[in-house]
Amino acid sequence: MGKQYMETKNGYGQVGGKEEDVLIVRNMKKYFPTKTKGSFVKAVDDISFSVRFGEVIGLVGESGSGKSTTAYVVMGMHNLTAGSVFFRGQDISMPVSKRSLSLKRDLKIVFQDPGTSLNPQRNIGNILSLPLKVHKIVPQNEVFEHAGKLLQMVGLTPETIYKYPRSLGGGERQLVAIARALATNPTMMVLDEPTSSLDVSIQAKIINTLIDLQKQFDMSYLFITHDMSLMRNIADRIAIMYLGRIVEMSPTKDFFLNPQHPYTKMLLSSIPVVLDAEKALKPEKIESRGEIPSPVNIPAGCRFNSRCPYAYDLCRSSEPIMREFLPDHEVACHLC
Ligand code: SF4
Repeated sequence: MGKQYMETKNGYGQVGGKEEDVLIVRNMKKYFPTKTKGSFVKAVDDISFSVRFGEVIGLVGESGSGKSTTAYVVMGMHNLTAGSVFFRGQDISMPVSKRSLSLKRDLKIVFQDPGTSLNPQRNIGNILSLPLKVHKIVPQNEVFEHAGKLLQMVGLTPETIYKYPRSLGGGERQLVAIARALATNPTMMVLDEPTSSLDVSIQAKIINTLIDLQKQFDMSYLFITHDMSLMRNIADRIAIMYLGRIVEMSPTKDFFLNPQHPYTKMLLSSIPVVLDAEKALKPEKIESRGEIPSPVNIPAGCRFNSRCPYAYDLCRSSEPIMREFLPDHEVACHLC
C-alpha cells in the first residue's frame, strides 16, 4: 500500500506557500460567541503555518491554547471565522459536509478518545470495511481480508475483525482508529492528542506505531499535544501555541538547543530530565506565573505579558508579530 498519485504544481504560489507544502493555514481565526452580546471566545486568533509533504509538525500548547480547535478547523468540523486553509493547493476553507470525497480520503484525523470515535454497535471488521467500501479502496470481495491487513499494520491480529470495541483495551481501540484512518492511504493525518487518554504503559506502543507508519507511507502529520518532550523524537518542526496564537515555530533540533520565546523556555524548563547531557541543554528556569488568561479577555499587547518575567512597557501596549529569528525559526517576542 503506497501513494497512488504524483504531485503536481497546482497553485501553491497563489497562496503564498511552497510547492512542498501539503497544508497551508493562512490567518486562521476561530471565534465562538458567548452568551454576552458582542463577546467571543477567541480560541484561534490569527495563526499561519504550513506542513510539508512527509513532514511531522508538533503543535504544542497548554489546555485552552487553541491547538485542538485548530485541528477541527483544518478538518472542517468547525467553520472558519476568518482566514483560509489550503490542502495540496486547493482551498478547503469549507465545512466537512461540503468537502469532496477525495479530500476526505486524503486528509484524516485520529481523535483523542477512541472510546467515543468507534461505533460500539459494529465489530471491528465492519468499522474498517466502511472507508474501504465508501472510497472503493479494494474490490468488494477483498474488503475483509484488507481490513485484516490494516490491523496487522498497526500491530493487531487479523482476528480482531471479529471483536467489538468494548472488548478491546484503550490502546487497542486507538490502534483500530489509526488503522481506520490509514485505510484510505491518506497523504496527511491530524492526530489530536492520540495518547493522552491512555495508560502510560500503552502510550509508547501507540507512538512507535505512528512513527513507523509515518516513515513507511511518507505521510504528513499535524500532531496536537500538550507534551513537549514527546515531540523531541517525532516532530520535524514544532509550533508553540499560547492563547490562540503561535508564538514560536522552529525545526525540532533548533527548538531544544536554542529556544527563544519566554513561554517556550517556561515549558521546556518544566520537563523533567535525567541525563547530564539533557541537563546541560535545559534552559534557565522560568517560573510559571499565574494561569493562562481567559480567551474572552485577551490581555492588551503581548498576550503572555501577565505571566512573563521579562515584560516591559512595550509588551503591555504592542502585540509582537512572528519574525524570522534564524532560517525556518520564527518567534513573536519584542525581546527577540
Ligand atoms: Fe515577554 Fe514581552 Fe516577549 Fe511577550 S513580548 S514574551 S511579554 S518579553
